[in-house]
Amino acid sequence: MLSGGFLLGAGRHGQRSQGAPEEMTMRLTTLFGRTMREAPAEAEQIGHQLALRAGLARQLQAGSFALMPLGMLALRRIEAIMHDELARIGAQELRTPIIQSSDAWERTGRYADYGPLMLRVADRSGRRLLVAPTHEEAIADLARREISSYRQLPALVYQIHTKYRDELRTKGGLMRMREFTMLDAYSLDADTAGLDLAYRAVGAAFERILARCEVRSVAAEASAGEMGGSETVEYHVRSAAGEDQLLTCAACGHVANAEVSLADAGGRCARCGGALLAAQTIEIGHIFKLGTRYSDAIGARYQSAAGREQPIVMGSYGIGLERLLLAILEQHHDGAGIVWPREVAPLDLHLVPVGRGARARQAAEALYEDLLRAGARVLYDDRDEAAGVKLADADLIGLPTRLLLSERLAEAGQIEVRPRGGVARDVELERWRGAAV
Ligand SMILES: [Zn+2]
Repeated sequence: MLSGGFLLGAGRHGQRSQGAPEEMTMRLTTLFGRTMREAPAEAEQIGHQLALRAGLARQLQAGSFALMPLGMLALRRIEAIMHDELARIGAQELRTPIIQSSDAWERTGRYADYGPLMLRVADRSGRRLLVAPTHEEAIADLARREISSYRQLPALVYQIHTKYRDELRTKGGLMRMREFTMLDAYSLDADTAGLDLAYRAVGAAFERILARCEVRSVAAEASAGEMGGSETVEYHVRSAAGEDQLLTCAACGHVANAEVSLADAGGRCARCGGALLAAQTIEIGHIFKLGTRYSDAIGARYQSAAGREQPIVMGSYGIGLERLLLAILEQHHDGAGIVWPREVAPLDLHLVPVGRGARARQAAEALYEDLLRAGARVLYDDRDEAAGVKLADADLIGLPTRLLLSERLAEAGQIEVRPRGGVARDVELERWRGAAV
């Protein structure tokens, strides 16, 4: 559960009931942002359309989106899964600067290699700075300063932080953002055997993160690109609007990005000669065995047990959070809206009183206060809107459980409980409240 610092408001200032704990709860009348019946025409992907329609994100300029309060809540839950899974493999969180000096980048050669994809700036004294697109240089530089002995290895560090890549095309909405959030992890080892272990551990952690987000992904052989290194795997999700193409061998099951020369001259699998199936995908994660490219260039060395100076062996690992959010929406929706997987839903309960009568509203207010006190994560539709509007928004926003109170139900002491996408049933309000609270 997040601390009060992330509280999104139980009501307008001064409306909060005395003594209620600060919990992840909000009233729709005070929610910043609103839902939309139709997605803007430029939003082509269903996940992108849902993000805009449900009020999770808003585009402010080409390639840059604001995450709105509901989107931010979902992002925080994804982050919580990431922190949890990385803690399980002993990774430690740190944070490196976004604006970086060009020095280390010039030493690795990437200041030139990145070309126009890297946003370059100058400070007031004309020093060359850049907005970091990734952080291998910063981590190698930290390792150079902090690590001197084999006794300090292995190490595994990560951050969840903003990156910037000056992409030429920005048509892809949340899929192709210039400014985006990334989980980036870095392993530091004494030798390649250590790197192999870290690479497998982080790969397994990434697969658990994707599984807990209920995203079906495919691991594919990939090309290392400007990152360099010996071995690399990308995690992809299928999407008709994806920009990558994966080739899967029908015979041996090998999967590779079409950039990699999986196909031989005849368009068949280079490993076994089997037929290849192509699918459009979105890349959401990538793991690399970097080796010593960065530590050699930057001078990140340690003294071995035998007293020899050796370069630290590095790996780097990343997942794009907005792309992961997009993949969740692409894979979890129906014709009416989002169907959130339980562990990443912005909130758990959507409380909806309908009708003009006072009784349903009073019962809803009382239930809302109880749920607040019990620490439940509730979105409360306290608007004076028609039932149709409220129920359409509940389906669009797609929280796991909808609680409906009508005048008839309130009079009978009942509440309608409906799992999103499931079957509604009327239950005794007191019994349900007892179970939920
Ligand atoms: Zn094959």
